[in-house]
Amino acid sequence: MTTEQYSHMLEPLDLGFTTLKNRVLMGSMHTGLEDRFWNYGRLSEYFAERARGGVGLIVTGGYSPNRRGWLGPFGGTMNWPTDILNHRRVTKAVHAEGGKICMQILHAGRYGYSPFSISASAIKAPINPFTPKAISSSGVKSQIKHYVRAARLAQRAGYDGVEVMGSEGYFINQFLCKRTNKRTDEWGGGFENRMRLPVEIVKGIRAAVGEDFIIIYRLSMMDLVEDGSTWDEVVQLGTAIEAAGATLINTGIGWHEARIPTIVTSVPPAAFTNVTAKFKQHVSIPVITTNRINTPELAEQVLAEGDADMVSMARPFLADADFINKAIAGKANEINTCIACNQACLDHVFSQKTASCMVNPRACHETELNYEPVSAARDIAVVGSGPAGLATATIAAERGHKVTIYESRAQIGGQFNMAKDIPGKEDFKETLRYYQQMIDKHKVTLKLSTTVTPELVKANGHDEVVIATGVKPRELTLEGIDHPSVLTYPEVLAEKKPVGKKVAIIGAGGIGFDVAEYLLHDNHTLSINDWYDEWGIDPEFEQQGSLVPAQPDPADRDITLMQRKPGTLGKDLGKTSGWVHRLQLKKKNVRLLPAVAYKKIDDQGLHISHGTDDNKVDEVLDVDNVIICAGQVSVNSLYEELQANEPGISVHLIGGAKLAGELDAKRAISQGAKLAARL
Ligand code: NAP
Ligand code: SF4
Repeated sequence: MTTEQYSHMLEPLDLGFTTLKNRVLMGSMHTGLEDRFWNYGRLSEYFAERARGGVGLIVTGGYSPNRRGWLGPFGGTMNWPTDILNHRRVTKAVHAEGGKICMQILHAGRYGYSPFSISASAIKAPINPFTPKAISSSGVKSQIKHYVRAARLAQRAGYDGVEVMGSEGYFINQFLCKRTNKRTDEWGGGFENRMRLPVEIVKGIRAAVGEDFIIIYRLSMMDLVEDGSTWDEVVQLGTAIEAAGATLINTGIGWHEARIPTIVTSVPPAAFTNVTAKFKQHVSIPVITTNRINTPELAEQVLAEGDADMVSMARPFLADADFINKAIAGKANEINTCIACNQACLDHVFSQKTASCMVNPRACHETELNYEPVSAARDIAVVGSGPAGLATATIAAERGHKVTIYESRAQIGGQFNMAKDIPGKEDFKETLRYYQQMIDKHKVTLKLSTTVTPELVKANGHDEVVIATGVKPRELTLEGIDHPSVLTYPEVLAEKKPVGKKVAIIGAGGIGFDVAEYLLHDNHTLSINDWYDEWGIDPEFEQQGSLVPAQPDPADRDITLMQRKPGTLGKDLGKTSGWVHRLQLKKKNVRLLPAVAYKKIDDQGLHISHGTDDNKVDEVLDVDNVIICAGQVSVNSLYEELQANEPGISVHLIGGAKLAGELDAKRAISQGAKLAARL
């Protein structure tokens, strides 16, 4: 790897009054730290670390210009001179590291989780229980003044600019589209009227802040909802926003209420840069593209092809603050890649928890979780190389300990080896690539195909032993469980045993859904155009909201996915990704069956009963295979043996080996990292 390989990405961008050191924007990402003044120390360090990491320009999470625009009660606001004091801590910290930072102004409109929300018209959003109040004509003018006030305050707080959030279905979008704007005054009706709000906001901000201040406008290029903007409207708005005084236009994709995924793992890499490329021809200011760009190679490719002038990445900077510096140093292989799982970032934010990152638990915890060099190195054995073991081993070695990983299989990765083979989860292999790189870099001794016994631990004289032996599939007690049609999920995903056309899956947790997905796509990853067809996206972006009828693509497998409890299947999957998994299976006509009792398996198939007590149905599922995805149990016998027989050895138990129920890689990596930080 050499820096020349990223020559487009690392090229400075001259904005006339200021120059960005490269073409990478750290996109806006709400962390939860913005909302409380006592978190500004943490927020400042979080941004400072990213500025130190070399990114060209940072955009903060969204701040509302007034209380009516709050996303939730007591959200971050910029509407009073005293707000400046907190923000100055952030801007000073970023500037001290040679970075630049803009504050995002976000008015939630009808997405505000509050009975006092406002919008263009009193139409409830499908994702919010509250109906907004339709704002008066003079009220619209006040909102514009508040946007301008927020920008002026941001300038006084030391920001290099602001980003006006005009996409994802928020307040401005709600004025732009007939879907949500039924007004008959000068702010509704024809598009000239509907787009007046953002144009007046940008004009007002430019007049108030002068020429030497960045104004980014985030423009919704594809709404992905019915009655969304047409392409002509997108272009008309873009040219008007340029004329109003914007410095940069950023791409927005999809309203939050859209039922088309835009950022989860299964969205193909750089799936939306074509829309930015098409838009770019219509304006002369630099245009930024976004969504599912997570490596320097991809960023470079998009920029080299001329699709955009800059690339925005948000989550990749949670995963690795040093993304740019590593690319500059020719060490892109050492980048901890965001795998678009949403598990610790967006899922946290939507559950009112502080964001972090599954693959980097330090994200947003920079003041608390640090990997300091050790004064006296110790000899540490880590047994098991799933995510928990890998995190412990590599961080302990980075700190200076002498670390040995013992792994009974022939390769590292544990359950991640299965996850990476699920269509749409290919990025999981990047985490394994990263850990292998860290093993090499920090000189961890790796002993593969080695089963550890208490004798081996004792003989090698390790000071500390970390048991991260993970999980094994739960075995079911069910008549016919030994029938040749029965397979476990590792036999399907890891051993690649052949599976017939008619399948019953017992267990509808994350793995049951993953196995269904794997069998539906026969392990083929979709191209961008096939993915557009599957979800009903217009590849020319001409139709309203960029929507066309989805192409029915029936699966060539007949799958039934089951659970014993009543209620919706997959309701415990990730908050921001579960609906995508459920919709994906529904589109492929997978039968989702709750409240199932499993009776037996024989040559006829799987015998079940299902339904409510007063309406029980007995059924035989005539299937070729029954696949067991019924959760896991911990593998911790080594821990118990060491505890019982070797009291002199310091032993730690982490990850799935400690608790298999609700096992997830987020908890495993976080436990490993925290243990390694204090060893
Ligand atoms: P899980 O989420 O615990 O699900 C286990 C499933 O098996 C449930 O549907 C459960 O439903 C059923 N089950 C449990 N005991 C059973 C029994 N004795 N007989 C029959 N059915 C039984 O486990 P998993 O699916 O193996 O996933 C493990 C973890 O991996 C998850 O917690 C998740 O964090 C992670 N993961 C997540 C995703 C994702 O979010 N997309 C994907 C893969 C893995 P009933 O008890 O109702 O039958
Ligand atoms: Fe990316 Fe997942 Fe980390 Fe979020 S939690 S930043 S999606 S790797």
